[in-house]
Amino acid sequence: MKIMVSACLTGENCKYNGGNNRNEKVLALLAGNEVIAVCPEVMGGLPTPRVPSELRDGIVMSRDGRNVDAQFRAGAQKCLEIALREKPDLIILQSRSPSCGVKQRYDGSFSGKLTDGPGVTAELLIGHGFHVVDLEDIR
Ligand code: SF4
Repeated sequence: MKIMVSACLTGENCKYNGGNNRNEKVLALLAGNEVIAVCPEVMGGLPTPRVPSELRDGIVMSRDGRNVDAQFRAGAQKCLEIALREKPDLIILQSRSPSCGVKQRYDGSFSGKLTDGPGVTAELLIGHGFHVVDLEDIR
């Protein structure tokens, strides 16, 4: 099976704070499969570490008030291009991220509150018919 995955879940230090979200359940699931690790925010040209960002009214803004929507959407587009080329059977994405969140994301207030709905990369991949699963649904 071919699996696309948020790179931070595999242990890559691409998270906004320079760390990762290494997840042993995900790593066990990836073992023996063909793995395509992607980080849309890095692929969109953002540095690591970076100021955290959230989606508000359909636009991705950084906590310090910059409009970073273009970088987020460029990264999402690159992930889509890879997915269209590689045709992964399954895509596993990190929960609650403004890029990768599938079921929920932070609500744009930078207060830790969540709202229902995907991040920009997850939304694009789901919209193109890929089988996209939130980390929270990996048992
Ligand atoms: S954009 Fe996705 S892959 Fe990159 S650090 Fe955030 S959650 Fe992980």
